[in-house]
Amino acid sequence: MSGQTTNEQEFARARGAMPGGVNSPVRAFGSVQETPRFFVSASGPYVTDVEGREYVDLVGSWGPAILGHAHPAVVKAVQDAAAHGLGFGASTPGETELAELIAARVRRPNAIAGPVERVRLVSTGTEATMTAIRLARGATGRDLIVKFAGHYHGHSDGLLAEAGSGVATLAMPGSAGVPAPIAAQTLVIAYNDLDAVREVFAARGGDIAAIIVEAAPANMGIVPPSRGFNAAIADIAHAHGALLILDEVLTGFRVGPAGWYGIDPVPFRPDLITFGKVVGGGLPLAALGGPAALMELLAPLGPVYQAGTLSGNPLAVAAGRATLDHLDDAAYARIDAAAATIADAAASALSEAGVTHVVQRSGSLFSIQFAATPPVDYDTVKAQEAFRYPPFFRSMLQQGVSLPPSVFEAWFVSASHDDDAVARILEALPAAARAAAEASPG
Ligand code: PLP
Repeated sequence: MSGQTTNEQEFARARGAMPGGVNSPVRAFGSVQETPRFFVSASGPYVTDVEGREYVDLVGSWGPAILGHAHPAVVKAVQDAAAHGLGFGASTPGETELAELIAARVRRPNAIAGPVERVRLVSTGTEATMTAIRLARGATGRDLIVKFAGHYHGHSDGLLAEAGSGVATLAMPGSAGVPAPIAAQTLVIAYNDLDAVREVFAARGGDIAAIIVEAAPANMGIVPPSRGFNAAIADIAHAHGALLILDEVLTGFRVGPAGWYGIDPVPFRPDLITFGKVVGGGLPLAALGGPAALMELLAPLGPVYQAGTLSGNPLAVAAGRATLDHLDDAAYARIDAAAATIADAAASALSEAGVTHVVQRSGSLFSIQFAATPPVDYDTVKAQEAFRYPPFFRSMLQQGVSLPPSVFEAWFVSASHDDDAVARILEALPAAARAAAEASPG
């Protein structure tokens, strides 16, 4: 493969075939002013581009590759499943097993039961949150949704207002094409601000179906919830007859065996939880779960419709099951240790270069923010010196480390990031930090 084409050539050709040359906006590398790399293979912590260049990867397919790329057990599970048929459009035993696995894992340490009694498998995180919202509306008979600025819940119409991730990267307030009456059903408030939550419920409480929240936000960079925040918003929602939708599409099964729900220092009760990324092991699969009484309002038992040609696809189910099976305590310990080493080294390199920064962490998830004090919400995130990230990113890339191409994204460490891979990242950090130091706003 090496030497056949260049990334430049691939990008030029792709732009003639797909809008912006990509199938998801952040992949265009626009905000880091760099040519996107076109990858041809990946293994463990490494990805290889069309030019034959290998990078240590900290994108991890945006989360799913938690065991490392092409983990042999996951690949084998998918191959075995494929040999039995790519999909039936009918039920399979594997779907039940994955649903049971999800329900069994999502519980607080020592709890007899968790908040997930029934699971619906879908294909993307966007579908999971969209369905959770429809279900909340169907259950409460109310229309309004409360979301937090800077939180990303996928690209369904009602959830794009002041969203994080690519919407933040592209500095878009929302999206064209969302009808105003639909946008008006979403009330956007500041994160980590309980007064804002109380105020919105005082004003509109009787009309609010649900609050949707990233369990530990990671789409405006990492912004941890203040202690007890999730518990407090659960209480406020419940006091007004509204539901709490905990979006664990990114954090679920990543920050621990039961996601953020399992490690939040203050226990709380979400009504619906959405999962994605890790739960599909790299293939298109996501899920939502909750108590039977709520979940059984979904068709065919209840009046809330949801369906999918590829829902519960056997290859995706096999990848998800194999991934969860291999995510044991040892795997989480490796991820935690590698993440801590990389985060500490990034902080040291930036300090050494005299760059004002904080490294924000939520469990093993972390990101750099170029600010003097830890950002707590979208406004403080946006106030950072974001112009320092593109040169930092480009320096890392030139040195063979693939970071997320946006300051608003988390760095994804996998269980395959061994000492060699971590050492390569650590070696690259000082020069990248110096590049960040030399950056200017213009
Ligand atoms: N929710 C969260 C917290 C996410 O991070 C994402 C994707 O990044 C989504 C929902 C949407 O998931 P998908 O991209 O699979 O539609």
